[in-house]
Amino acid sequence: MKCPYCGYHDSKVIDSRDVNDGVRRRRQCLKCSSRFTTYERLQPAALFVVKKDKRREEFSQDKLLTGIRKACEKRPLPTGAIDKLADDIEAKLYHQGKAEIQSAVLGDMVMEGLKSLDYIAYIRFASVYREFTDITALKEEVDTLISAEAKAPQLTSQLPLLPDEEFAGITKNRRRNRN
Ligand SMILES: [Zn+2]
Repeated sequence: MKCPYCGYHDSKVIDSRDVNDGVRRRRQCLKCSSRFTTYERLQPAALFVVKKDKRREEFSQDKLLTGIRKACEKRPLPTGAIDKLADDIEAKLYHQGKAEIQSAVLGDMVMEGLKSLDYIAYIRFASVYREFTDITALKEEVDTLISAEAKAPQLTSQLPLLPDEEFAGITKNRRRNRN
């Protein structure tokens, strides 16, 4: 199990407990001392993703990672954040213990994860996944993010979606255009 923060290959177990039908282990990286959690469980028969057109495809962690990486390309994310997101999602999937999952549910999980990680990556993923049909739908989504951030800026450690001055400028322009 590689450290999700620095990628080092070895860690020690600092806590271990049974959860449902698996084992949860709290680990500490031997190199950077970061702590992370792993779940060990018996893998049920393969997990299938049911696509929109009803085709079933075996769940692939690689595919999940590729999709997330694409959305996060060139974003200033901490090392290991992408792998960690994919791992968390996979853990959740297996935790549900179901034999199949709708691709829409999986997509929502990715969007939820990206939203708390990086707004730009989130918008990128959402624009493909939700198939925004026009710029208005995309803009509505961005506006939602901006107003959520304006209301609760302390909840996020992300870079601001818009620099303050720019944001004020846009608001001003909008008003001007309306008048
Ligand atoms: Zn580490």
